[in-house]
Amino acid sequence: MKSKDLSALLDEPACAHNTKSKSGCAKPKPGATAGGCAFDGAQIAMLPIGDVAHIVHGSIACAGNSWDNRGTRSSGPKLFKIGMTTDLTEQDIIMGRGEKRLFHSIKQAIDGYQPAAVFVYNTCVPALTGDDVEAVCQAAEQRWGTPVISIDAAGFYGAKNLGSRISGETMVKRVCGGREPDPIPEGIERPDFKIHDICLIGEYNIAGELWHILPLFDELGLRVLCTLSGDARFREVQTMHRSEVNMMVCSRALVNVARRLQETYGTPWFEGSFYGVRDVSQALRDFARIIDDPDLTARTEAVIAREEARAEAALAPWRERLQGRKVLLYTGGVKSWSVISALQDLGMTVVASGTRKSTEEDKARIRELMGEDAVMIEEGNPRTLIDMVHDQGVDILIAGGRNLYTALKARLPFLDINQEREFGYAGYTGMEELARQLCLTIESPIWEVVRRPPPWARSAATTQSSSAQPPAVATSIDSESATLEVRHA
Ligand code: SF4
Repeated sequence: MKSKDLSALLDEPACAHNTKSKSGCAKPKPGATAGGCAFDGAQIAMLPIGDVAHIVHGSIACAGNSWDNRGTRSSGPKLFKIGMTTDLTEQDIIMGRGEKRLFHSIKQAIDGYQPAAVFVYNTCVPALTGDDVEAVCQAAEQRWGTPVISIDAAGFYGAKNLGSRISGETMVKRVCGGREPDPIPEGIERPDFKIHDICLIGEYNIAGELWHILPLFDELGLRVLCTLSGDARFREVQTMHRSEVNMMVCSRALVNVARRLQETYGTPWFEGSFYGVRDVSQALRDFARIIDDPDLTARTEAVIAREEARAEAALAPWRERLQGRKVLLYTGGVKSWSVISALQDLGMTVVASGTRKSTEEDKARIRELMGEDAVMIEEGNPRTLIDMVHDQGVDILIAGGRNLYTALKARLPFLDINQEREFGYAGYTGMEELARQLCLTIESPIWEVVRRPPPWARSAATTQSSSAQPPAVATSIDSESATLEVRHA
């Protein structure tokens, strides 16, 4: 990829990081965990396209980097679950066999799996040795008649976000516009019921949560041409240019796709979230507002009224149990503001929120939801998080999987909210699942057991005490060692 193309992607005008200065997204600093390379970002953004053979051109370690670490689900083909790599060895590199191996790998993937398309992800080593991946992909496409798309996002180009953008840019340039959507079956449209085509960008169908939303769209006559990329098919990505409105779902990693589709095809877009009752309703309203079909607007309001009433009734018993519980929220990919809004819907109090990956707009929304005194955590190392848990009397830590052990050491209820989560929390029905998981976690009897002082401490205390009463026990967290110690009052 040419450096001017990379600079253009870093300089993404729709990215809020660029409003203050033309600095683009943060570059990784030596020694800091950067959260994935550009290849990683490209791969995780496009991997959920289910009927594509995804080939990693590079050493075996790249393919193992983060293969399918998102809990994304497919309703059909599972080809994306098969890890494919050219597995370059030292010999291949010394002998200049990289391009040949890639060509044969593409052949093997096409012969063995008949994929709808092949995506080839470039990585550091072949990018450094100068393999012409694009030329190999073109030759293979001509030879076997299957689309072969080169995604040139080698790891050293930059951070994960840049890689996601490169892959999105490739989809807009090479795939969108490749075919027209299927005609709408006869008898579905009526004078007062018109089908409108929409797309969701940045929705990865983690734990199948997209399926919580689709029935609502079906009912409203909104046909989802494509979700980039959760539960998507290659032929769906080809039709994205015909969407009437695009919704940028939560993650801004693919914001350049929404902007480029608007520039190229004039498709309006908005940013929204499917977490929390208020935000789901807002997203449905935004579709109706932009499409501007009075009948759709009326039906949308009716569906929202019905679903909100249903959600209200379903959440009432959970809300009673969660009311006033304190949450420390430290999310990564999922937008903090949308989760805050969902937790507030459940009557919980969010005492602090991580903003490491938040844009300036996100922070403004967080302030709006939590008030001006909102505590924002820019850098949430275990010590900071545990100190805050201690100071604020937090009931549960909601964070990404990498904070699981911080919570367990502190004997604190923990809920995974990031990409590896097991449960889908999107949509009205997702809220019920979120409430259920929160209750199960907070109310688990394990916390009472593990917080008890150990038997030897209890017997020592009993010996020392002349009173018949057992000693009162207080707990405090030793922030240095990030563990919870037991103190006897
Ligand atoms: S930084 Fe380079 S070598 Fe490492 S995983 Fe990413 S692409 Fe592969």
